[in-house]
Amino acid sequence: MSIIHNGTPASPGIGIGMTFVYQPILSTTATSVYEIEPPTPWDEWQHFLSVQSKVDEELEQLETTSSRLLGDIFSAQRAILHDKMLLDAVRSAIYHGSKTAAQATHLSVIELTNLFRDFDDEYFASHASEVVDIGQRLLAHLEPQKQPSQLAHLSPNTVLIAEDLTLADAMQMNADHICAVALVRSAPTAHIAILARSLELPLICALDAEILGTETGCTAIADGNNGTLIINPSKNDGVFYKDSQKYHLKQQQLAETQSHAAAYTRDGVFVPVYANLNDVDTLQTALNRGADGIGLLRTEFLFLQRQNAPSIEEQTECYRQVSDCLTAAYQRLRHNALGEEVVDAYVLEQSQNRMSITDRLKRVTIRLLDAGGDKPLPFIPETLRSSSFLGRRGIRLLLEHPQLLEAQVEAILQSTMAASASKLGIMLPMASSSAEIQAVRRIIAHKSAKIFKSRTNPPIDVGILIEIPAAALMADRLATEVDFFSIGTNDLAQYVLAADRTDPHLSSLADPLHPAVLQLINLVCRSAHSARIPVSICGTIASDPKATALLLGLGVTELSMTSSAIPLVKQAIRQCDLLRCRQLAEQALQCSTPAQVHRLMSH
Ligand code: PEP
Ligand code: MG
Repeated sequence: MSIIHNGTPASPGIGIGMTFVYQPILSTTATSVYEIEPPTPWDEWQHFLSVQSKVDEELEQLETTSSRLLGDIFSAQRAILHDKMLLDAVRSAIYHGSKTAAQATHLSVIELTNLFRDFDDEYFASHASEVVDIGQRLLAHLEPQKQPSQLAHLSPNTVLIAEDLTLADAMQMNADHICAVALVRSAPTAHIAILARSLELPLICALDAEILGTETGCTAIADGNNGTLIINPSKNDGVFYKDSQKYHLKQQQLAETQSHAAAYTRDGVFVPVYANLNDVDTLQTALNRGADGIGLLRTEFLFLQRQNAPSIEEQTECYRQVSDCLTAAYQRLRHNALGEEVVDAYVLEQSQNRMSITDRLKRVTIRLLDAGGDKPLPFIPETLRSSSFLGRRGIRLLLEHPQLLEAQVEAILQSTMAASASKLGIMLPMASSSAEIQAVRRIIAHKSAKIFKSRTNPPIDVGILIEIPAAALMADRLATEVDFFSIGTNDLAQYVLAADRTDPHLSSLADPLHPAVLQLINLVCRSAHSARIPVSICGTIASDPKATALLLGLGVTELSMTSSAIPLVKQAIRQCDLLRCRQLAEQALQCSTPAQVHRLMSH
């Protein structure tokens, strides 16, 4: 009989294959330990210390050879490996509990992990999985005979089911043999989700613990687009998902052949399609997928996984790297195969906005640190105390920590000093008032006077992320104070519909296509048009090609999305006629329910 489980989609795509239920050697729910005669405590403690130093070497090696993002994670793991709390627990279990080094490690890791998980907070939960990771690495040396090589020898087309996966697990697994991953724990912001997205591996998380009772070897379908896991699917489900998988693959391949060309609607309007970047490592992938620029650089990756904020120099280097890469890509886009300029003349004629296309294509939009909510930072204590989305977040929090804000602004401005011709945009997350915009503008003016000496106009655009309903309702006034708007539908939907975006039970409620959200998008677009500033959407809905016509009809002038979606969205734009898009938007604005909007879009 077919069983359907619903979870949170964390990495898109459809995987069809056979289940493998992963039972790690270090199960944090286990209560019993191995029954082995304990040798002398001194020998065991020395054994533990020598293994600890081996694991440290392994992590150091991984830290230096991995991407920056993973390197930071391994560096944080090294800190845990030397953490006093862990060492004291192991030592005490060996000396006072008469345990072997392996038993003591097992017990201490379980204890520490449960402690972290009791906090019931995403930050501490992800810290717990780092501790498990360390435990697995230590036990791999302490009990080599017990180590399963389960993940290294999976059959092709495996739908991997697990309570959670650590980075050590991920390093072990042969990703080519995995077609999808389904987890009980984890969240879209967890490390494993970041990794899955960069491997383009469908991932569903926050599934019911019942999935762990699934037998290995069952047929399964994991739909990472909407978070559905089907065990023993019916024949009809099988046919449906296989067809949609084939269809998507074909469409993707077709779209990729044209993804480097600019996307024009049928009636000749250019719509820039930008990438959302969560780190710098995926920049090249974004450009390979045909991104016209970076519409949202989420800078949190520079700040997460560390005890102190990054230096101005470190930030500058990162922003400069992004803008240099973009400048090179822009040069390629501007010229055809014969080296002739092809974009500007045509588009300047079409452009309704006061910002020229030249500016737009070179722009990299850097979002100021959006800490708080589900992104706590150890060096901003307020973010650890509450994980509420209604708490101190985004620009509000930055204004409370001016040293962080000033350092980030300075780094962004410094990065424009390089030879790079990219124009940068600074975007304020969670903005809701003109006072916030003015405060940031003052810092920009002050810093640029210092950096550029004679220049009066800093070479930077200032825009806001519209994700608080108040900002949408006040958009006509805010539009006169900024150079661009970007609508963050992920947050806008959760605030308009009072539905926490991280709660898997509410995911169907927080629908960005709810007519109430559409009314606000429409209002924001109208205000942007009156002020002649560009307005983009950078929430997840921008990556859905089915929504493209509706979003353009509502008046959105640019789209920014996860890189893998760019080719298909560009195709969708090419099929749009703006007049018809506007008619579709008019109809959608008349709808009373999200279901009506979805029906309208599927016609
Ligand atoms: C959004 O809220 O839609 C958005 C783009 O920002 P984030 O998902 O990073 O909160
Ligand atoms: Mg947001």
